[in-house]
Amino acid sequence: MIRQKVVLRFPADVVEQPFIYTLAKKFNVTANILKANINPRKEGSMVVELSAEDEDYSGAMDYLQSHGVIVLPLAQQIVWLEDRCTQCGACVVICPTNALWVKRPEMTVSFCSEKCVVCERCLKACPARAIEARYLDEEGE
Ligand code: SF4
Ligand code: SF4
Repeated sequence: MIRQKVVLRFPADVVEQPFIYTLAKKFNVTANILKANINPRKEGSMVVELSAEDEDYSGAMDYLQSHGVIVLPLAQQIVWLEDRCTQCGACVVICPTNALWVKRPEMTVSFCSEKCVVCERCLKACPARAIEARYLDEEGE
């Protein structure tokens, strides 16, 4: 089973085709649309979470690409909101890479984005909602 968040780019000449319907009907792909910008006869884009069995997923990708749709991986990054952090330390003990760590001698929690592998454990652990996951498509949005 594959579950993946991707950006789909639709050229203007195919933007009105029912791709999401076809993915479900022909390839048993479930699509959860997270963001869409579709206008008739103009280039469109969509951020979508797709899930399907491996073979169906690969057939669906071939289908999209053969119809001119560009499929791009959706990058994700973790953002630490320092002003919301209450310094409880809950994230530090569960972070597997020490991306969240205690700076000494100040003994304050800090975040190093270069060490973060986006496992998302800290999101669930933070009682102050001081950690967020943000998605970046190829335009950095
Ligand atoms: S997402 Fe994972 S690796 Fe990144 S800071 Fe949170 S716990 Fe650490
Ligand atoms: S769990 Fe949240 S509030 Fe606690 S130290 Fe980490 S970021 Fe700060």
